[in-house]
Amino acid sequence: MTHRRWGTLAALAALVLLGACATQPAPIVIRGPPVDYGPPGDARNPPQGPFQPNAFLRLCAGMGVSNAPPADTERWIIDYKPVIVVGRVVMATAPADNVCLGSGFGLRNGRPHEGIDLVNQPPGPIYSAAPGRVIEARWSSGYGNQVLIDHGHGVFTRYAHLDIIAPEIQPGSEIGFGNTLGQMGATGNAEGPHLHFEILTGDYDNPRASKGLTPQNPFAFPAYDFVGY
Ligand SMILES: [Zn+2]
Repeated sequence: MTHRRWGTLAALAALVLLGACATQPAPIVIRGPPVDYGPPGDARNPPQGPFQPNAFLRLCAGMGVSNAPPADTERWIIDYKPVIVVGRVVMATAPADNVCLGSGFGLRNGRPHEGIDLVNQPPGPIYSAAPGRVIEARWSSGYGNQVLIDHGHGVFTRYAHLDIIAPEIQPGSEIGFGNTLGQMGATGNAEGPHLHFEILTGDYDNPRASKGLTPQNPFAFPAYDFVGY
């Protein structure tokens, strides 16, 4: 009963969100309609992929990590939240296996870095951070091979510098959590293989399309958890 599971998840997310709002101000205002999955009876919760988020994230060794969140002496990020709530969307914070953080969100060398950089050796698969609909799967200047997913509710994610995009990932594809999108790479403006991962909010239907969306800091969102449920 995928329909019922989706409803349960949505209710759970709403409860968690209400709880989060009670303890801290909402970091952003998100507008936008939910993803239209089609007429009633269509699959509303596409099958999940093989990804299981790591519970912890470490700063990469041997490189200056710009805008690094606080970390302990072994470089583990303090109070890392592997699954977060972005508006009404529950998603993974680092949608790849066994990665380290190579760069945080914010100004870097005087220019805005609109996502986070995740690195693993050797480069591995990249996964969807949450269910949604693929709206871009193509080369884009600077980003190289990139995938953009619409999660509904005005929430989007971008995955850039992919070596290859999985052939089944096409505009219009409805995907579940943790589906394989492609392989980490260094296409576009990238000094080495890594995933540039962005969380974006706003309305895609604007003159600049995805570049008119607002980048958000993945480390600024509340954790999704079951405490109190
Ligand atoms: Zn980046």
